[in-house]
Amino acid sequence: MARIRLMPDHLANKIAAGEVVERPASVVKELVENSIDAGSSWVKIDLMEAGLQRIRIIDNGAGMEEEDCERAFHRHATSKILDENDLFHVRTLGFRGEALASIAAVSRLSIQTSTGEEAGTKLDLEGGHLMQKGRGDARKGTDITVEELFFNTPARLKYMKTIHTELGHITDVLNRISLAHPEVQFVCTHNEKQIFKTNGRGDLLQVIASIYGMNVARKMVPVEMETSDFKVKGYIAKPEVYRASRQYMSTIINGRYIKSVPLNKAVQQGYHTLLPIGKNPIVVLNIDMDPILVDVNVHPSKLEVRFSKEKELYALLEETIRNTFRKETLIPDVQETK
Ligand code: ADP
Ligand code: MG
Repeated sequence: MARIRLMPDHLANKIAAGEVVERPASVVKELVENSIDAGSSWVKIDLMEAGLQRIRIIDNGAGMEEEDCERAFHRHATSKILDENDLFHVRTLGFRGEALASIAAVSRLSIQTSTGEEAGTKLDLEGGHLMQKGRGDARKGTDITVEELFFNTPARLKYMKTIHTELGHITDVLNRISLAHPEVQFVCTHNEKQIFKTNGRGDLLQVIASIYGMNVARKMVPVEMETSDFKVKGYIAKPEVYRASRQYMSTIINGRYIKSVPLNKAVQQGYHTLLPIGKNPIVVLNIDMDPILVDVNVHPSKLEVRFSKEKELYALLEETIRNTFRKETLIPDVQETK
């Protein structure tokens, strides 16, 4: 008798959830990214107990029709890529079709969604199993509530840190997403108190001010540079404001916050000797490029990416920053000593 069997979907989803859903902050990231991909101009995030008890995300995006809504909870179900070719032209934040299936597999989830044309759809799921289906209201957009995260994966639940730590991770996620999307308004409450808000008017400096404070925002210098391959736009702090942590260097590729050590290094080299040794600048750089030049399919979190013209990109960043401060005449032309 054959001993190898294909896993049932709900088991495969639970396993995949281990990778996609590390903690409440991962749920917030995935759901808010879905809201952005759906074209929302407003996203509300309501948390109870740092999301361990409840995470509710409401958006005013495109919503889903009934059939799509049910399908969205299957593994590898996505509206964002159709064929192999699309994989090299990803413009959306999601494309793996894993988030909803994974989140639903390890929580009690309910969703209400509508495209605004007809009565909406409402689904309740538990551990990935559909429990109930009904009509929702017809407001255009999507409203998802995730409760009791990891209720059926006790080992993962035990690994959760304090409310304070988990909330810190969520704040990090929201900071990054709002720096990448000043055109979207984000409002976040924790235990019914508002803890975070952006105005959604598309002004990056305003977002910087609401995250890092006015004192930092006042010290930010705008940068802009374009080549045939890359468009760089953002704000970089004058060298006199620096931080011990590298966390204040935000690099955003095609609307996606990413982490790249060599990219950060190029930025630092742009500052040259203006920063004290071991210190890091505060920068927010939006870099746009043809999606064919960047591979976002490196890791499920999509934080890591690979560039096909990396040398050119690093050189451009370094030069952009260096030129900015030269213009600012902050760099006295010191002769290099031999
Ligand atoms: P992915 O984002 O990688 O496509 P997800 O599992 O996150 O995969 O979502 C599956 C699909 O469900 C999406 O492709 C999208 O069509 C739909 N969807 C998810 N969230 C929303 C939302 N907030 N508004 C409209 N559609 C959504
Ligand atoms: Mg997604």
